[in-house]
Amino acid sequence: MNTLNPFTSITAAKVAEAAAQHQTPFYLYDEALLLQKCRRVLHMPNPYGLTVRFAMKANSTRAILRLIHSQGVKIDASSLNEARRAHLAGIPCEDIMLTTQEVPHGEDRALLESMLCAGMRYNVCSLRQMERIAPFAAAQKLSLSVRVHPGVGAGESVTRNTGDDYSCFGVHLTNLKQLLAVAEKYGLQIGTVHAHIGSGGDPEAWRENIDLQLGILETFFPHAHSVSFGGGLKEARMPDENAADVEMLGKYASVQLEAFALRTGRQLHMEVEPGTYLVANCGYVVTTVLDKKRTGEQGLSFVIADGGMEVNARPLLYGSRHPFYMVSRGGELLSSEFSLPETDYKAVLVGRCCESGDAQSLDEAGRSLPRTMAQPEIGDYTVIGGAGAYCSAMTPFNYNSHEQIAELLVTQQGALRLIRKRQSLEQIIQNELD
Ligand SMILES: *Cc1c(COP(=O)(O)O)cnc(C)c1O
Repeated sequence: MNTLNPFTSITAAKVAEAAAQHQTPFYLYDEALLLQKCRRVLHMPNPYGLTVRFAMKANSTRAILRLIHSQGVKIDASSLNEARRAHLAGIPCEDIMLTTQEVPHGEDRALLESMLCAGMRYNVCSLRQMERIAPFAAAQKLSLSVRVHPGVGAGESVTRNTGDDYSCFGVHLTNLKQLLAVAEKYGLQIGTVHAHIGSGGDPEAWRENIDLQLGILETFFPHAHSVSFGGGLKEARMPDENAADVEMLGKYASVQLEAFALRTGRQLHMEVEPGTYLVANCGYVVTTVLDKKRTGEQGLSFVIADGGMEVNARPLLYGSRHPFYMVSRGGELLSSEFSLPETDYKAVLVGRCCESGDAQSLDEAGRSLPRTMAQPEIGDYTVIGGAGAYCSAMTPFNYNSHEQIAELLVTQQGALRLIRKRQSLEQIIQNELD
């Protein structure tokens, strides 16, 4: 059984089987690993109860949402449309929380109100949102959540730090008094205090956020009964990376929550909101090698595949590293980042967009960065790992008029299931007018 890596159930033979049945490129998801990840977070130690919400912006595909929800994980939506999409996928409003930069008005306001009446939770992210929602929340006796901007954050890159003063998420500490004045005016109680400090940062920062947030809750929110520590649990996409130790973070949170209870007599329910951690390593992009080139003796070797930045923009957007797997047409694993081949072949894996940044490995300056891999034949498959989060949900997929690609799931039993059809060229142009 040559699985692609030590943590997946997907074999190279399964990749070749999928590629024989479906036109590449496509996303391929590992159901068994996804369920295992859900269980791991659902079992995070906690003293007074735990709610896990999936940050659905990481992957918004219906079948994925339904699978995760079926395990007992709720949803955090980043926009009203995400909340609607989750609801259309069959997830009840009471299992959805809305954490958004939007201040819904007009038709959206009516939609928001109907979803709130049906039980959706609202995480207030600005003073303006608070002022707009307070009369309605008071009339409907809603318990609100508030996203606090703690003034410090952490992320894998500057662009993924959402807690420092260079980013604008949540109600800044310096505005909390004003927010509480609005709450008081309308007789509203804040039930949940929330902070999300960034994606994939240092676990130490995650622990510090727990301390900071409990301090904020104690000072400002006498009625809060739950605390959300947000997402940002790091996943290890590459073999040299370390994933967040969920068990250890849960233990740390438990100690702090128990100390808080001793001090204040308040037993807080805990919430976490992973996106990346649940889905990142469950997804792959399967592409076919179209061409190979070399830029002279002193230059670089390139492997050109039929999918790149338009199916995984993370290397270009963040300089993120993803593992590569070479699979022969016959379904043999030729090389993987987890067992590098004995070869001095180094190449840059690039896509087919007319864009020099369309490479799957870039250095900090944005230059193509060669990596060791087996030299593929034309028609072999190149598989990009760590592509379950912020890929299908976050790519410039119609760039160069490429279609949004299909998504497939390998079930726990090893069956292949199409969960999203490939877009057609007609769908790309259907709304254009002369
Ligand atoms: C993006 C986001 C998350 C998830 O972040 P990950 O790094 O993918 O875990 C959680 N909560 C909120 C509010 C977010 O915006």
